Amino acid sequence: MKPKIWLSAPHMGGKELQYIQNAFAANWVAPVGPNIELFEQKLQTYLGHNMHVSAVSSGTAALHLALIILGVKAGDEVICQSLTFSGSANPIAYQGATPIFIDSEENTWNMSPEYLEVAIKDRLSKGKKPKAIIVVHLYGMPAQMDAIMDIARTYDIPVIEDAAEALGSRYKGRQLGTFGDISILSFNGNKIITTSGGGAIVSANEAYIKQAKFLATQAQDPAPHYQHSQIGYNYRLSNIAASIGCGQMEVLTDRILQRRSNFEYYKNAFAAIKEIQLLEEPDEDYYSNHWLTTFIVDSDILMREDLRLALIGQNIDCRPVWKPMHLQPVFAGAPYYGADVSEKLFKNGLCLPSGSNISDAELHTVTSVILHTATAVLQAESTKMYAL
Ligand SMILES: *Cc1c(COP(=O)(O)O)cnc(C)c1O
Repeated sequence: MKPKIWLSAPHMGGKELQYIQNAFAANWVAPVGPNIELFEQKLQTYLGHNMHVSAVSSGTAALHLALIILGVKAGDEVICQSLTFSGSANPIAYQGATPIFIDSEENTWNMSPEYLEVAIKDRLSKGKKPKAIIVVHLYGMPAQMDAIMDIARTYDIPVIEDAAEALGSRYKGRQLGTFGDISILSFNGNKIITTSGGGAIVSANEAYIKQAKFLATQAQDPAPHYQHSQIGYNYRLSNIAASIGCGQMEVLTDRILQRRSNFEYYKNAFAAIKEIQLLEEPDEDYYSNHWLTTFIVDSDILMREDLRLALIGQNIDCRPVWKPMHLQPVFAGAPYYGADVSEKLFKNGLCLPSGSNISDAELHTVTSVILHTATAVLQAESTKMYAL
């Protein structure tokens, strides 16, 4: 068996162990400690725009806290991009609320502003005002934030920005994760930087972040004994995981440049095959960290599955694009507004190995398998046509 080429593997910078050693030396092996605060400070500095940050145990936990802070309760409705990872939508169900799913648009693959507005108008006409809008920046590509924020402000609905895949991406020069009323980040093992598992909740509203810290540490009221007047959660990031995050923040800029260079490599390699269309920045307003390089296969002859199976056969990790949430059995029956854009992206889309530690030789192997397979399939068909 050939050695595996991974989709997006962890990539340590070298300083992580030093931060962990400091934590051990001071015996901060706990969900409190100085490296949690240091990691939060580093994130705040990086994001700018006077953001406040609380580090938590996962991106999903951050999203759950965001919904609680915005007052989402059982029976409420929350709007959510359909094309995403289940971590974006599951917290809606944790609260006993109903997700209202929205299709994507073709330029960024993210939430369609058009269908967002259609959905809001229709829910209002049914007497239900959605409590929040969860917009996702898939694969690092910024969503159409101006249009989405305009609609959200018009109807006075708070926005939660799911920037789990998009740390370091920018829209009109501004860091993603700073647009929403609340934003979330993820540091899971496959993300652009990792804490082995972790996340953060981000907001310009300091009171929200204070509340997030309170809820994430079991909602302990100020008292000498354990006193609780609210349900709390054990969602704080550990000081050891935060130590990894401190080291990773030192190399974030390099990681972004490497992933962007992976994208350029693939783009050049596939330039001659018009059936392969990469997810690209629509114009200079968009700056993607290119967390994963993704493309759709637009052809009646060459199928996404031809390429996916050829790659898997060579022990190369690759994935179809996210299966839309409105097509997931667990969310069957949830309202959906849109056409078939997200469905088509799921059917024809593929994510390529995109780690920042992928080697040139590995990139060469991946592109060779794709080029070879695509050429073979397309040529077999044209030979058939000449034979007729
Ligand atoms: C990874 C991810 C999450 C969840 O983050 P975890 O840290 O894994 O809980 C949420 N949304 C999106 C879009 C993600 O990619």
